[in-house]
Amino acid sequence: MAAASPTTSAENATKRRLIDSHGRVIHDLRVSVTDRCNYKCIYCRTGEYGAQYPELAIEEYLRLIRLFVDLGIEKVRLTGGEPLLRNGLIELIQELASLRTTSGQALDIALTTNGHLLDKMAAPLKGAGLNRVTVSMDAVDAPTFERITRVPGSFNKVLNGIRVAKAAGLTPLKVNCVLLRGFNDNEIEGFARFAREEDVVVRFIEFMPLEEDRLWSPEIVVPLKEIVARISREMPLVPLAPREPSETARRYTFSDGKGEIGIIAPVSQAFCGACSRVRLTSDGKIRTCLFSQVEHDLYGRMRAGQSDAELSAYIVRTINEKEARHHIGEPGFLKPSRSMVHIGG
Ligand code: SAM
Repeated sequence: MAAASPTTSAENATKRRLIDSHGRVIHDLRVSVTDRCNYKCIYCRTGEYGAQYPELAIEEYLRLIRLFVDLGIEKVRLTGGEPLLRNGLIELIQELASLRTTSGQALDIALTTNGHLLDKMAAPLKGAGLNRVTVSMDAVDAPTFERITRVPGSFNKVLNGIRVAKAAGLTPLKVNCVLLRGFNDNEIEGFARFAREEDVVVRFIEFMPLEEDRLWSPEIVVPLKEIVARISREMPLVPLAPREPSETARRYTFSDGKGEIGIIAPVSQAFCGACSRVRLTSDGKIRTCLFSQVEHDLYGRMRAGQSDAELSAYIVRTINEKEARHHIGEPGFLKPSRSMVHIGG
């Protein structure tokens, strides 16, 4: 494929977009605001480590995010660790809500959370300008859920958080479930019913080799085809057309049109060719892929006194080097140095 050069505002004022060397438009920034978490999900964390990386001050995140937005980012997803643990989150969202994208639209602001603190925080988050939340929930059966999170009482907290967030208008509310064979793959049909009963979009995510421990194997991944086949036996699924080329989830509704589920299949049906994402870790490193072997120290440059123009040029150069794809399951695959909780999922 011919290499497209990155486009900046300086080069072309009418079309400020970040384009990598594979021709992909990068418009989606994920920002980890902490790598601390109040859950110890068995497939994510060993439970032995706490936070491992520093956190930037809120005004430092803001300065860096503004640079990304001025270069063409249209959507920011705040994540972690658990983002609701982060002091100053509401103020950060308030400031982000005043930003405009290069096409003059309001910045789209979303957040991924385990939902534990959502019942208290949903209304302030909405009031600050947050558009939507995605809640991670790996079982609809309370004992299974709490075996996974290793936090007693967490199921009712999260369920209540989901309901309160919906009532606060943080919709459409998505519920993400990572499926692991032998842990929670018996929850698939229950989740399909949950999507309909609770009026939430349930998305099943294939397990990726990004855990702190060494749990991942190809056999533990529950692939897209199996999920579709299992739900269809009970409730026939109807595929929905993608809304945009970089959409990661294959979406389905049910034959009566009530409810939606999606399947994100980075392992069995990788979507790297349409990837629109870049990540900023809690300590200000750019990661151009979840599976990057290198990190790009944006914060280090900022602390060294570089100007906005210098930092922007660095972002453009970094994104130009974005990897073509991941190599999960291939011989010689290397896990990245950080696990999901420390990158920002
Ligand atoms: N604490 C927040 C939460 O629970 O949503 C945000 C951070 S968490 C790391 C983000 C998402 O990554 C969660 O939905 C979690 O299930 C998912 N995740 C963690 N490890 C994963 C893995 N190895 N493969 C796929 N998804 C993973």
